[in-house]
Amino acid sequence: MKLVLDHHPILQDVTIWAGPDFGITGTDNTYYIYDRKSGTEKEIPQENITDQLKVYAYKLLCNTGKSLENATIYAYEVYLPSMYMIGGKVSQSDIDHIKTKIVGDVHELQSLVVDGNIKNNIPQHVDHFRRTSDSSKCSMCSMRRACAALKKIDGDHTPNPILDPLAGQMDS
Ligand code: SF4
Repeated sequence: MKLVLDHHPILQDVTIWAGPDFGITGTDNTYYIYDRKSGTEKEIPQENITDQLKVYAYKLLCNTGKSLENATIYAYEVYLPSMYMIGGKVSQSDIDHIKTKIVGDVHELQSLVVDGNIKNNIPQHVDHFRRTSDSSKCSMCSMRRACAALKKIDGDHTPNPILDPLAGQMDS
């Protein structure tokens, strides 16, 4: 579902898609948001509100026109099959944090497109982009085989323990 953002100047024309798995509207303007998770449980304090949950809560406030002065939101990640839950009551500082993060992310995206125009969404020239030297990012990247193959062609000698062994495999 589309997130209708409030009137921050940077967020005009920005669409964020956010869809929690399950929600309950309680009495007295109380809302419950649940998001299913599989895989390894996050090793963070159990009462933490993750950024994903904050986006859902922010979306709920924007789309209902409410604030945390007249609504209460509880948000949880629920791991299956253990039913381990991370989350709790969403605070104003959670909402402020995610708004600041979204604005920062939009700024970063603007730096990657021509004239900062995210509506036109035309990428900067390829020279504008550099491979990361953070191998932890590469280990999760679905482009890493192609990236490793292109590394030699590009003459990119930046050491990267994930990409360099892959580049070797490409030769054989
Ligand atoms: S594999 Fe290449 S494209 Fe992917 S994160 Fe690493 S440097 Fe970036």
